[in-house]
Amino acid sequence: MILILAPGTDPDSEEFRRLENYLRQLPNIRHRVHQEVGEQQKLTEVYLIGDTGSLSLDEIASLPAVERVVRVSEEYRILGRHRDDRRPTHFEYNGVRFGQDTLNVFAGLCAVNNREDTEAMMKALQQQGQLCTRMGAYKPRTNPYSFQGLGKDCLPWVFELAGKYGIRVVAMEVTHENHVEEIREALEHTGHPTGVMLQIGTRNTQNFELLKYVGRQREFPVLLKRGFGITLEESLNAAEYLASEGNRKVVFGLRGMKTNMGDPHRNLVDFAHVPVVKRLTRMPVCIDPSHSVGSRERAPDGLLDIMHVTAQGVIAGANMILVDFHPHPERALVDGPQALTLDELPWFLEDVRLAREAYEQRCRLASSRQP
Ligand code: PEP
Ligand code: MN
Repeated sequence: MILILAPGTDPDSEEFRRLENYLRQLPNIRHRVHQEVGEQQKLTEVYLIGDTGSLSLDEIASLPAVERVVRVSEEYRILGRHRDDRRPTHFEYNGVRFGQDTLNVFAGLCAVNNREDTEAMMKALQQQGQLCTRMGAYKPRTNPYSFQGLGKDCLPWVFELAGKYGIRVVAMEVTHENHVEEIREALEHTGHPTGVMLQIGTRNTQNFELLKYVGRQREFPVLLKRGFGITLEESLNAAEYLASEGNRKVVFGLRGMKTNMGDPHRNLVDFAHVPVVKRLTRMPVCIDPSHSVGSRERAPDGLLDIMHVTAQGVIAGANMILVDFHPHPERALVDGPQALTLDELPWFLEDVRLAREAYEQRCRLASSRQP
């Protein structure tokens, strides 16, 4: 059960003390307070954990400071969608809105290789009016002898270049809690020219200690990728780990499933799950067409498979696209064969716009048919 308190409720107030005193005496029930400090107001929610079945909704709703009560199912208590649940499905970060109703493109380098290519990427994004990018500094590689990413050394100039070209959010994978500290220090050192969305990759979806660590910090939002060989339910539970530790700014990423059934694509594209994740949870949903398809193969109609699957995700309501680009794919140190080139960026964005427009028309058609 979740108690949503009146906006601005002060945890030091007499009202709040009376509420907590009441909750403490309930048998077999623990409670946990979650606070969200927004620009305008402080939002407080109290989670009741345990034997809540016998509690009366009306009685709890009449307690001091309580505005609304939501009875939650066992699964995904915080990030899930529950009956009569009108809690928001969006969050803001560094001036960018991430919601189940928005669409942000994160085109960029799978792995940062040098300053020149990073700058060319950022400049192309600015020319197209983009505010977000992806930049890999820490790369989890299958082979220990493969390039592992430039690591913390590249962070200061990556962030400075992002700031120079007006980029507000950089999606960057972390594979260890130290990486979060290195990112925090580099942002501090460079005067916060941009923001970072921490990415947890498919190999770490169930790295529970990393999830807890990233969940405990609230400075950075998180993109959690679906595990490539586990069920959707298991991956959604992994997202709930982040939220249960306190960070609810979570985007859920689909990146294809590892199975040879998807051949010749690198992974079996799973973007049919975009609306499923939106129905089960309140998270915005990201698609990664690059790691799903894994190549620049082109269909007879002239469109790259990467563009086809992007459109499939967008027309199904995707809220974020994480996509590999590179100014010189032939010299990319990771995943060059799946990178789109900078001269393809305007084409890609226009193709996305068409698919988004079709999605919006589909929503209008659906709502006109609702009784
Ligand atoms: C990536 O986005 O660079 C990446 C490694 O993706 P995934 O975790 O989905 O394999
Ligand atoms: Mn990659």
